[in-house]
Amino acid sequence: MTSGVRRIVYSPRYRIDIGPHVYPTAKYEALHRELSAAGGWSWIEPEPASWEDLALVHTGDYLQKARTGTFTPAEIAEIELPWSPEIVEGFRLMTGGTVIAAHRAVETGLGIHAGGGFHHAFANHGEGFCLFNDVALAIRMLQRDRRIARAAIVDLDVHHGNGTSMIFDGDRSVFTFSMHQQHNYPVFKPRSALDIGLPDAVSDDEYNSRLREALPQVFASDPQMVVYLAGADPFEGDQLGGLALTRAGLLERDRIVFEACRAAGLPVVVTLAGGYARRLEDTVAIHRATIELAARTFDPAAKTG
Ligand SMILES: [Zn+2]
Repeated sequence: MTSGVRRIVYSPRYRIDIGPHVYPTAKYEALHRELSAAGGWSWIEPEPASWEDLALVHTGDYLQKARTGTFTPAEIAEIELPWSPEIVEGFRLMTGGTVIAAHRAVETGLGIHAGGGFHHAFANHGEGFCLFNDVALAIRMLQRDRRIARAAIVDLDVHHGNGTSMIFDGDRSVFTFSMHQQHNYPVFKPRSALDIGLPDAVSDDEYNSRLREALPQVFASDPQMVVYLAGADPFEGDQLGGLALTRAGLLERDRIVFEACRAAGLPVVVTLAGGYARRLEDTVAIHRATIELAARTFDPAAKTG
């Protein structure tokens, strides 16, 4: 028997065929393979988010286009993914994965999704490899079902969480925190509740001290759950990132987030978000370290200290 926190939401169908692309959907499968080989994990197969539920976040017009493949060429260029029924289904499935992980977080204190973190999806359009905003949907569904009233998002992907910030703009029930590389995509960065735009080439110590300083402000919003976007792309070897964190520095980042949430008694949902290292194994190792640390931190049976 694996303990309650050693369960991971994942599907082999996350390896979506998007053609030759910088976004390696193979990372999900590689992560599953490695963790399965290490042993001690069990897996939860998600259900696709329903079109009805997706309407809690997205406009009817946008969902209609996604469903029927009637995006304009300009819209496809902005999403930076081809359209196919398989791709839309894959993203609905990954969105459903974050929804299940969020339910698990509320029930057990930790929900791990080996996927998700599509923070560039807006209510009315997709961008930057993101079709549906899984993080926003998971929060909206838990709020609708009165499981939580307030949530906080800790978005540490190297790119600003533009879609999420815009979706929750003016919504005081969801505190959006994004720490990102300032001079990087997206050019238009709608205001989050807290934004930290870092200069290029920031390394471990500066990054993690900025994070430590910021978290009290996040917790001051009195959230009942934290959704963590543990992007692997602040890594020094990332093709789409311009920060200079090492793998050790990224693990320390994760530790700061998890320890702070545990100290505050807050359930955490882990999503992977981006990761485009020149070597796929680096991206996979960073995500794996995040997941293993999350389970160690939130395992009630584990020794502390
Ligand atoms: Zn990113």
